[in-house]
Amino acid sequence: MVITMIKNIDHMGIVVRSLDEAVRYYEQALGLPCSGREEVASQKVRTAFFQVGGVRLELLEPTSADSPVARFLEKHGEGLHHVAFATDDIYAQLLQASKAGCHLVNETPVEGAGGKLVAFLHPKSTHGVLTEFCSMKTKTGDE
Ligand code: ZN
Repeated sequence: MVITMIKNIDHMGIVVRSLDEAVRYYEQALGLPCSGREEVASQKVRTAFFQVGGVRLELLEPTSADSPVARFLEKHGEGLHHVAFATDDIYAQLLQASKAGCHLVNETPVEGAGGKLVAFLHPKSTHGVLTEFCSMKTKTGDE
């Protein structure tokens, strides 16, 4: 049985060469205030977030040449990188996607921005969109 655990689109990830230059564009051309910056060691990126209604934009700048985001930038240039869905249960969500034939980039969730648990599905198995699941850490001992 397929269960709906996705609540909403949490954010969309956009790869940029320079976080500073991209933040300036979103703030000055679009008039959106940056709601926070963070470095995410597990993904080797620096991020900046913009709240747009119920959805956030996550700008991503690689911090290392071996970051997956650096490889994306080299291959595709700047642009839309992933769509992130907020889910009630990231573990059950991954299992469901795996059973449906998706290739999991992360077999188990890793720590993402904002201290959330995140996991990715490979775009080859999701009709071209790198798909992220994210959830708040709810259980104690998830650390
Ligand atoms: Zn993301």
